[in-house]
Order: sequence, then structure tokens, then C-alpha cells
Amino acid sequence: MSHSDWRMKFVDAHIHLSDDEYVGCVDEVLGEAKGSGVVALVSNSMDLKTCVGSLELAKRHLGTVYVALGVHPWAVKGLGKHGLNQVLELVSSQKGNRAVVAVGEIGLDSKYMELWDEQVRVFDSMLRLAEKLGLPAIIHSRGTTVQILDMLPSYRLKKVLLHWFSKPVSALAKAMERGYYITEGPPAVYSNDIRDVVKRVSLTNLLTETDGPVRFFKAPFQGRRTTPAFIPSVIRAFAEIKNKGVEEVAGQILRNFQEFFDVKLEE
Ligand SMILES: [Zn+2]
Repeated sequence: MSHSDWRMKFVDAHIHLSDDEYVGCVDEVLGEAKGSGVVALVSNSMDLKTCVGSLELAKRHLGTVYVALGVHPWAVKGLGKHGLNQVLELVSSQKGNRAVVAVGEIGLDSKYMELWDEQVRVFDSMLRLAEKLGLPAIIHSRGTTVQILDMLPSYRLKKVLLHWFSKPVSALAKAMERGYYITEGPPAVYSNDIRDVVKRVSLTNLLTETDGPVRFFKAPFQGRRTTPAFIPSVIRAFAEIKNKGVEEVAGQILRNFQEFFDVKLEE
């Protein structure tokens, strides 16, 4: 962390804090977050187990850990109707829990075409849940951005966040037109494709993420456990790409976080 970062506040809009990889080191990871100025994060879920885990973490770290609940496309295998209903019931039972700020991570993934029908069925049910609860949707769209953009207008969604948007950049105009948000993380430091996305998206529609425990294999992140402490580097990359001051960018991303998730962070 450079000297000028010390009073800036950062946010991690997408991490999987209830993932098995963080078991036993959540306090350490949250300590790293705090030490680097990250004041709030959204623990995204994948399945029933990680939904329950995210809720427990939010309870223990009220005001710092927020929660997104849902079924990820990688978790549809063997889920069945019963498994899906368990998640739907859990999420519905959280109505009024201010720590629950979104339905996520949900979506479609072209890498698992053999599960396409199940993916679509679960995604549809998650979108209807977001609609019913009036919560934003956090969407995984690997290889499926075009299909997803075609689907979304059929739902009355409050807000949409396209997480780790990478391609096609030709779809970005439509996403921006509809007021969707985009999250980008450590690849904004080293990937020209991601830098191009950041360049094209309005600063008012951008958010920072780590997607931890996903690991990054390029400098300066390689070989290290993914932590919200990576966020200041992502903000510096955004500032460089946008040709704006680091403080200005950090301030705008903080406002975007509060606006998108409808939360008020402490001053
Ligand atoms: Zn994720």
C-alpha cells in the first residue's frame, strides 16, 4: 500500500468468503482487508452450504460483510428440485435481513453445456427470486453474455451486475444502455482485454472485485492467496485506464457500491 492510500476506502463487491479455502482464515483475511482500507465486501454464494456460511459470516461481521445468496451454474449438477427449493426457502426466509444485498452468484456457463437445461432452469428460478425480493442480481456469464442479455428483459429486475465481464465488448453498449454494472478485479492490472472493458464502461457503472479464492497467476498477484487487500491495486489500474486520480476513482467506486447494493457505509 502506498502512502497516499491510507485514508482511502475500498470495497470488494465479489468474493466467496464462505468457500472452503477460507475456512479457518476468515479473520486473517478480514484483517488484511481492513489493513488495506477495504471497508466492505459482498460474500457471494454458490449453493446451500455457502449460502448458510455467508449468512453466518455477515452476522459475525455486521456492517463489513454483506451477502449475496443463490445457486451458481457450477452447482446445478445433482441439485434437483429439493435442493433448489431448500435454497429458495432459505433466501426467502431472510427477508428483512439488511446484510442480504443481492441474489448471486447466478448465471450460465458455456463450459458445462451438458447441464445446459438445468442451468437455464435454475437461472430462471434465481432471476424470479431476485424479482420477487426486489434484490439486485450478480451474474456469471462466461461464454453466455449474449444469451443472458437476451433473457434479462423478461424479468423485472431492480439492478444487474455482470461479474468479471470479458467479452464480447460489442455487448457492452447494450449493458450500459440498460444501466447494468460491471465488476472487474486483479486482471484489470495485467490483461489488455479486461483493461479494454474498463476503458469502455462508465466509471459510474464500475465496481471492484477479487472473486477470491480464485487465484491469479500473473504479477503482482501470482502465488498468493487472493485477498481483498488486492483491491487498491485494482483501483490504481482503473485510475490509470480512466486517466483520473486514484482518490477520485476510489470515491466513485465507494459511492457505486452503496448505490448498487443500497447500503450506507460508515463515514
Ligand atoms: Zn464468483
